[in-house]
Amino acid sequence: MSIGDIAAGQPPSVRDSAEELVVEAIAAGRDELVDLVTNLIGFDTTTRDGVGAARQERDLQEYVGRRLSAVGAEVDIWEPAQQGMGRSRQIPNDLNWEGYPQLVARLPGRSSKRSLLLAGHIDTVSPEPRAAWNSDPFVATVREGMLFGRGAADMKGGVAAMIYATESLRRCGIELGGDLLLNTVTDEESTSAGGVATLAHGVRANACIIAEPTALNLGIACRGSLLPSIHIRGQAGHAAAVQPHWRSLGAVSAIEKASPVLAAVVRLRETWRDEPEHQHPYLPAGTVVVTTIAGGQWLVSYADSCRIDCHISYLPGQADGEGFGTLVEEEFANWLQRSTAGDPWLAAHPPQVTWSMDVPPAEISADEPVVRAVQDALQSLGLNGRLFGCDFWHDGATYTRAGIPSLVFGPGQVSSAHTVDEHVSVDQLVIAAQTLALAAIRFCRPG
Ligand SMILES: [Zn+2]
Repeated sequence: MSIGDIAAGQPPSVRDSAEELVVEAIAAGRDELVDLVTNLIGFDTTTRDGVGAARQERDLQEYVGRRLSAVGAEVDIWEPAQQGMGRSRQIPNDLNWEGYPQLVARLPGRSSKRSLLLAGHIDTVSPEPRAAWNSDPFVATVREGMLFGRGAADMKGGVAAMIYATESLRRCGIELGGDLLLNTVTDEESTSAGGVATLAHGVRANACIIAEPTALNLGIACRGSLLPSIHIRGQAGHAAAVQPHWRSLGAVSAIEKASPVLAAVVRLRETWRDEPEHQHPYLPAGTVVVTTIAGGQWLVSYADSCRIDCHISYLPGQADGEGFGTLVEEEFANWLQRSTAGDPWLAAHPPQVTWSMDVPPAEISADEPVVRAVQDALQSLGLNGRLFGCDFWHDGATYTRAGIPSLVFGPGQVSSAHTVDEHVSVDQLVIAAQTLALAAIRFCRPG
């Protein structure tokens, strides 16, 4: 989707001279904004892969901190301590934070009313296959109005728009009614830990805008994710030997017993897809997909085990009272057991399910003041943003679950994220920064 796909709203009409000033300053600062994105892309912040050490996360956070300090923000950069985090269904308990600092900057407003948090992640996915790029993924280049580089859309473009909006408000001498906070985190792409660490650090606000790529539309819902592994038992034995019944200790292939389990997973997906209670105005139904399968030990043996990994996407309405997926876990395990009980082996040896991470779903009302503020700001710039449900997860779900209603709004298209020749429209960068600045003025205005 490009800007041209967004229905034109009313002609541009800002409300006062301060708003006019900041909108014009950002338009005039287009090249500075491009330089800022270029600098952010120049830091290698490829997300952790579980084995490598931190890269340039600290350098990037300190660069952002210096810029925001220079316009008078109070900047806090800290390396989280795992002990302070408590147990979380969202993140591993043994995460090493060395070299992965988080940042929060605060521009104090005139009163404590209505604080707004602008948030984004600085980690990016790997640039591989690097040789396939038309330009160096870490050296941003602009071609035909598009800025190319790893993270251009997801989401160093959005982070730059947040920073530039904040800087421009200060340079224009605009003091907000309430506090404006800016938060840049690591570990969104890998685990969602940066957002969890930010909350554990005590960061709070009345609302949040996550500048992930939405092509300037407004994301107000997303699904949660669960990662079940199904373990199926077999009974080892020589593949060529005639086997007695398993009750007489004959061999059983765990891989063959995976067949009814796979069928059960597909039936659950179809059930969720078709049931009225699994429909949502902005999101597709919950779904479950088999993602990997591993089984067998030897070419001439019955497999004595088979593991099936799945990915579950679940709707906000399927979440438990805490906002997480424990009810879905229960439903999934019971469904498997019921659906496979017709097989005597599986009835006697029910598949076991283990779970790793759970990232929560989230949704906010279209009537939230932060939604209205961004819609109004876009309309003042002559644009209409569409409300939609994100088909990607983002840190806003963590913040919404913690009581900070979070809207997703930013430059670039999610279809460009994680791809070779990732790019963002420079026009959208400018409009995103203008929108964020106007939305901050209006949201933080004392009521
Ligand atoms: Zn992202």
